[in-house]
Amino acid sequence: MSERKVRVRFAPSPTGPLHIGGVRTALYNYLFAKQHGGDFILRIEDTDSQRFVPGAEAYIIEALTWLGIRFDEGVGFGGEYGPYRQSERRDIYKKHVAQLLESGHAYIAFDTPAELEEKRKAIPNFQYDASTRLHMTNSLTLPKEEVERRIADGQQYVVRVKIEPNEDIHVHDLIRGEVVINSSILDDKVLYKSADELPTYHLANIVDDHLMEVTHVIRGEEWLPSAPLHVLLYRFFGWEETMPQFAHLSLLLKPEGNGKLSKRDGDRLGFPVFPLEWHDPKTGDVSSGYRESGYFPEAVVNFLALLGWNPGNDQEILSMDELIRLFDLSRCGKSGARFDYEKGKWFNHHYLQEKSDAELAQLFLPIVESHGVQATPAYVEKVVGLMKSRVNFVKELWDTCAFFFVAPAAYDEKTRKKRWKADSAARLTEFIEQLRQHEPFDVESTENACKAWIESKGYRLGDIMNAARLALVGEGKGPGLFDITEALGKEESIRRLQRAIKILK
Ligand code: GLU
Repeated sequence: MSERKVRVRFAPSPTGPLHIGGVRTALYNYLFAKQHGGDFILRIEDTDSQRFVPGAEAYIIEALTWLGIRFDEGVGFGGEYGPYRQSERRDIYKKHVAQLLESGHAYIAFDTPAELEEKRKAIPNFQYDASTRLHMTNSLTLPKEEVERRIADGQQYVVRVKIEPNEDIHVHDLIRGEVVINSSILDDKVLYKSADELPTYHLANIVDDHLMEVTHVIRGEEWLPSAPLHVLLYRFFGWEETMPQFAHLSLLLKPEGNGKLSKRDGDRLGFPVFPLEWHDPKTGDVSSGYRESGYFPEAVVNFLALLGWNPGNDQEILSMDELIRLFDLSRCGKSGARFDYEKGKWFNHHYLQEKSDAELAQLFLPIVESHGVQATPAYVEKVVGLMKSRVNFVKELWDTCAFFFVAPAAYDEKTRKKRWKADSAARLTEFIEQLRQHEPFDVESTENACKAWIESKGYRLGDIMNAARLALVGEGKGPGLFDITEALGKEESIRRLQRAIKILK
């Protein structure tokens, strides 16, 4: 068994947009597969026709592609073990349901939803199991001919697994260790429904993991309660030898640390919980996505990788290749990981600094143009280089550096009170002359020349710099003054100084 090639799968149900926790599950599977030179499969678990949402499958593929999480086979990627959409595998499941019925590990039940509801009302904590199944309408209580007659008459039925009580079931989990659950608490879960001729999650999941030769099942903690049943199903089918190893990942928790992260937390605190923007086809509601919010895929991957796993030291910046090298299931936490979305912004800040000014300028140029400004790529690149250290997202650039593109229309009142002195107009008039004479107009030589002039005159450096900044920017912020004059150029710098003198005098 240890010689088997590692094969893992991501098996989402297309019931809506992929939640960020699901993205993390996909990422961990991918890292594990790549580290072991294994295969990563995309299987679509669409057997619940009630909850099927059009567009969800395409969304999942687009989101993971954006993040650089690549599949080797599966829906949209081909492969030898298909079809990879469960709705296209009905015959396979029917055969396996028949096998369980034959071996006595499953039985047919005719109880209608109304009858079940009645039982639930009559019996507190009713569960369809060894203690109740003999009082129900099923192939264990009805004569064989009656069962056949009902089916021939077209009566709807389900197939239930037959769980024997009082057995300790051991689930070996690579993250949690050995989990023991007594079979008496399990119910006779429905495995198949005649109504839509489809299996339920449990049966389809097991059959497919087996047939697709999956070696490791890495999935969310919410599936841990299903694991004992899955272990039993492997036994009933006689597949224990090749049963995959389980690893159940801990939950992503609310930023406050209490309870499961939900879409509502994102709405409440203003962060996305989906990788891409999602347009709900039914309600028309739009939910924000990491991509559209301006996150870089590397930042999202790095951020998610560290939610519930760590490399064993305090290294935080990790590329996909490093993650593939270092990832280790035994270092995944057993308790939930708090979703610290501020940390996500920190990662984006880091990856933004790593981008070249030219690349960022390309992303920023359309924003500049959307403000009605025509600027050359070279100029935008220069501005980006001066300002990128101040932002987490490209879209934040405009608010920090609009003054590079548009002369101040007004002057910040507080800054004016503090920085514009009685002699500012006279000093800036002299300052303009210095700038006019100075050539070349680069940062260093302009700065040196102006400072020498200020010193020779016995003026106070701060007074002139602060007043000049107010004139050029309109307030007290911005990078170095001579970075600003160089970027604006001599003419525009002088024009802005003259205008401020005229207005503020
Ligand atoms: N279809 C299940 C889901 O949507 C898959 C669980 C599993 O990986 O076994 O999460």
